[in-house]
Formats: sequence, structure tokens, C-alpha cells
Amino acid sequence: MSLLRVSIGALLLHVCPLLYAGTSPAPGHPFDGPVPPAQHDAAREDRAPLRLGILAYLGQETAEREWQSLRQHLEAALPQYELHVYYGDLDALRAQVSSGALDFVLTNPGQYVELEYSDGASRIATLEHGRLPAANIAVGAAVIVPRERTELQTLADLRGRILAATSPDAFGGFQTAWRELDELGIDPQRDLKSLHFTGFPMSEVIEALEEGRVDAGVIRACLLENLPDGLKRYRVLSGRYEPQLNCTISTRLYPNWPMAGLPQTPPGMARAMAIALLQMEGEKDGMSWAVPADYQIVRDTFRELQIGPYAHLHTTGLRRLVRDYWPYGMLALLGLLFWGLYTARSEYLVRTRTAALEQALREREAFEQRMRANQEQADHLARLSVLGELSSTLAHELSQPLAGIANYAQSLLRRLQAGRLTDAAVQEASENILTLSDSAAGILKRIKGFARKRPGSRESLELRRMVEETIQLFQGMQRVAPQIEVIDHLSAQRRVEIDALQIQQILMNFFKNAQDAMRALPIEQQRIQVTLNEDGRWVWLHVRDFGPGMDAQALEYLFEPFYTTKEDGLGLGLSICKGIAEAHGGQLLGRAAPEGPGMIFSLSLPLYEHDTKPGDLSD
Ligand code: ADP
Repeated sequence: MSLLRVSIGALLLHVCPLLYAGTSPAPGHPFDGPVPPAQHDAAREDRAPLRLGILAYLGQETAEREWQSLRQHLEAALPQYELHVYYGDLDALRAQVSSGALDFVLTNPGQYVELEYSDGASRIATLEHGRLPAANIAVGAAVIVPRERTELQTLADLRGRILAATSPDAFGGFQTAWRELDELGIDPQRDLKSLHFTGFPMSEVIEALEEGRVDAGVIRACLLENLPDGLKRYRVLSGRYEPQLNCTISTRLYPNWPMAGLPQTPPGMARAMAIALLQMEGEKDGMSWAVPADYQIVRDTFRELQIGPYAHLHTTGLRRLVRDYWPYGMLALLGLLFWGLYTARSEYLVRTRTAALEQALREREAFEQRMRANQEQADHLARLSVLGELSSTLAHELSQPLAGIANYAQSLLRRLQAGRLTDAAVQEASENILTLSDSAAGILKRIKGFARKRPGSRESLELRRMVEETIQLFQGMQRVAPQIEVIDHLSAQRRVEIDALQIQQILMNFFKNAQDAMRALPIEQQRIQVTLNEDGRWVWLHVRDFGPGMDAQALEYLFEPFYTTKEDGLGLGLSICKGIAEAHGGQLLGRAAPEGPGMIFSLSLPLYEHDTKPGDLSD
């Protein structure tokens, strides 16, 4: 076993870097000292520095030995530059490139593609080895199993097996094989029993196989053919013989390591380096350089595997969405939350306001109902009140026809008792009784109409006559009454169409209020003035008293129901009179007398046309 290890190690060193291409870094291989600044250092020599970084897996010493011929060639071919060569693992090299400390980088195809993407590295030549057919088909891998494991023939047979490789970052040592597995739908992490990374050097993989710790191992193309007894002991899974290489491999072939310039590399220096490399003549199996190969196949592999520059593709899905878009997600969530709250609040407000509105409507309806009931009650009271006030008038009016009826009835009785009842007497008495009862029925009918606050039957009357009758009625009802003077400007026999009883009631109200207002005055000073006039469209009836009048504020409430200043008053008289006036198409007005004490109450009545609106008040 130890013999085998020694021989593999020696072989690996012999064929480096080819055999190490794409392997992952061994930790802790620093560069040989700090990288000098790019500026010209006049104190040392009059030569510009040329800073070259080289990927080294197995420490600086090994690398220095491997690249010695390159170094010597460059120093000879580029005497105008002071050559500084730095060796480092993948991480160290990446850091140096990013910090701009290098002019050139020589690394494996995988890292080159990454640096191309991240730092703008640009290849100027591709490494070639004398024993390999071409620079662009130099890197590949073989997945090997012990020959006796006959059940394992193809890469697809690796499902559920243990596979060994040097490192997940190794390009030739793992990623190239991974791509082939990926194409077969095998995810190494998921579909293998386990994936075992041995670390460097690659002989560790062979050792794991030897010891039976793993079922298969990934090694660099052509390594097996160079191992003593290698082909006797191992077989290549899905092996494909490549005549150009004279090796059997499991993967496709990739280009060799490139020498790449960086964005800050002076163009002249890049040109000089390219020429120097292309001029490097390799002996048999020695090192030489070709024009830059196409590394698209490497990019394709990275994209397929979603690693390197395409690693972000791997995280697509919920996790990446959450990582990249969580602020928007939060915003959207907040928006949704806000919207939800807003909707809930709006609905709540709508519900409460609708309920409040419905409640208000219910209250208003109830209020209106109460108002209607109150109004009906008030109207009823008012009518009773007016009837009460009219009762003495009624008594007076009805007493005459009743007395007449009684008189005729008694006369008929007496004649009957005396045996003097004639047909003619019965007829005369009956006719008179009928006339008198018609007259009483007429009075009652008008009262009924008034009590219902509806215009009773209208008749064409002489207003002056009606006024005089009302004055007689008013004065006849009381023992001591104010004097009433009538000033008549109406044209001769001016008639109006009115309900006499109702207009009489208005006049009676005016007279009664005037009398009440003047009670404090001695009876001889209590006087009322009635003025009648017309203005073409209206007949006006003004009633003036000489009482104390009313102040401006009281005047505002004059026609409002229940406004009264009297102890026994109802405050309904004027409001009812106003209703009557309006029902006649007229108007009722009250104002302080312009000159002297007292009030003037005015009633306007249309002359003939009931649809004409009342004009301005005029005396
Ligand atoms: P009432 O006579 O029952 O009080 P009215 O509606 O007839 O009801 O009158 C309302 C009020 O108007 C009276 O209480 C009184 O204060 C006032 N008023 C009416 N007429 C006069 C008037 N001629 N002079 C002074 N005040 C009056």
C-alpha cells in the first residue's frame, strides 16, 4: 500500500499541472511575499514589474518546480519586465485578482471562467502539452471502480453508491464528472448513498478505493493509464476510449489552463506576454502554448450545474425569492394587511353608520308620528276653542229659528185644542217651520265645515255687509263693547267669494284680540277701526286697534300656533285665521300701526281669480 502511494505521488508530480487541473485548493499556500505596486521602481532597476499569479494546489515548492521552465522562458523572453511570480490556492488567487495586484493569472479552466465573469479576466493563450493532442481537449475525468465490481458498468449504476472525489471545487477532479451524472438525472447529493471528498492529492481517491471505503472514484483523465497496474485493477464507468489521448474517460473533454490578462494589464505587456508564450517551444511531453481555446463548454457546464457564475440559478425558488425579494414581500404583506384592515374598518363603519342611520330614520319617523298626533290634537283643540268662542254667537243665531219653530208648533197645538185647526193653518205653520229649520241647518252646516278646517261652501257676498253683520254680532254678544268705525273705500257693492262663517271668524278674532289689547284703557277710549279697500287684484280688510301694540320680537311669533301672552289664551286664533285666509287664496298680515299706538291686522282676499298671488300690503 505505501509503495503504491509513493509511486502515485511521484507520478502526480511528474505530470503536473495537468493532473491537478481543476482540483481544489489545499489550505494555506500563500504567495511568495507581498505583491509590489505596478509602478516603475527606479531604485531597483529600470524595468517595469510583471506580476503573474499561478494556481498552486500542493504548496509553493511543488508549484515552483512545476512551473520552473515557464518562469525561465518568460525571464529570457521578456527582459524589459521584472518578473514576479506568485503561487496561491483558489481563494488566495481570487483575492489577489480582485484587489488588482496581478497583471496575469494562470489557473484552471473553472476558475478562469469565474474570474472572467467576476473580474473581467481575458485569456491570451492556452496551455499545451507535447503529449496531448490539442489545447482545447486536455481536461477530463474518469470514474473508476475496481474491476471485480461487475455490477457497476455505467455512471447510471452509481445511484445508491458511495463516490469519492478530491473536492467539490475540483474542476477536472469532480465537476466534469458531476456534469455527466447531472445529464443522467443523478443528483450526487440526493441520489448517491454518499459523496466522499478526500482532499488532495488525488492519490487519496485511489487509496479510498483500495481500502474499499468507497464504490467508485473520480480521477483525472489518463491518470489510470499511467498508474502501475492501473488498468488491471480498475475499470472506467461509461468508459469511452479517446484515441487522441490514448486514454479511456467518462466525461467530455475540456480546454487546458489559460493564461489570462486582467482589465488593468497594459496592452503592450499583454501582447509581449502572448508572443512570448506562443514562442515557447516544448520538447516531447514538455510545455508549450497555443492560441486561446474556446471555454464555452466550461461555461455550459457551470450553467448546467448552476455553480460558479451561475450559482444564483441554483437558489431560484422560494428561498431565493425570499432572499432577494423579501422587502417587496414585506411591502406586499403590509399592503395586504393594510388593505384587510381598511376593508374591515370600512365595513365596520358602513355597518355602524347604516345602523345609526336606520336608528335616526326610525326616530324621525316616530317623531313625525308624534308630531302628526300633536298637530291633530292641536287642530282639534283649536276647533273646539273656536267653537267655544262662537258658542254664544251660535246660541244667538240659533235662538231665533228655534223660537220661531216653537212658536208655530204652539200655535198649531192651541188651534187643535180649540178645534180651530184648519188645513191652511197647518200648511202655513209647516212651511214656516221648514224655512226656519233650513236656516238653522245652514248655520250648523257652516260650523261643521269650519270645525273641519276645510273651506265650506263659498258664496258671492258683499264684504261690507258681512263686516257690518259681524260687528253687530260681536257687539251684541257683550254688555260693553268697544266702538267700531268702518271706513269703506270699496267700489259700490264689491263682492267677494268667501265662506262667510270663516271670514266672520277671522274678523271676530281680530276684534277679540283688539279688545283684549285695549282692556287697560277706559271703555270710551277703546275703539277699533275697520278699513276696506282694493287694489285691482285684491280686496283688503284692515283692523286697527289703539292698544299698546307688540314689540318686534313678539311679532315674529305672531302666527305661530300656541304663541300667547294671555293667561287663558290658547295661542291658536291667529294661526287658524292664517290657514283660513290662505285657504281662500289670500293672506293674513300683522304689523304695528305706522303712526301712533296699536296694531293693524290685514286680510287680503282675491277679487275673482283664485290663482293670483297676493300683492304688497297697501292701505
Ligand atoms: P290668543 O288670543 O289665544 O292669545 P291669538 O293667536 O289670537 O291667540 O293671539 C296670539 C297673541 O298675539 C296674543 O296672545 C297677543 O299677545 C298677540 N296679539 C294678537 N292681537 C294683538 C293685538 N291687537 N295687540 C297686541 N297683541 C296682540
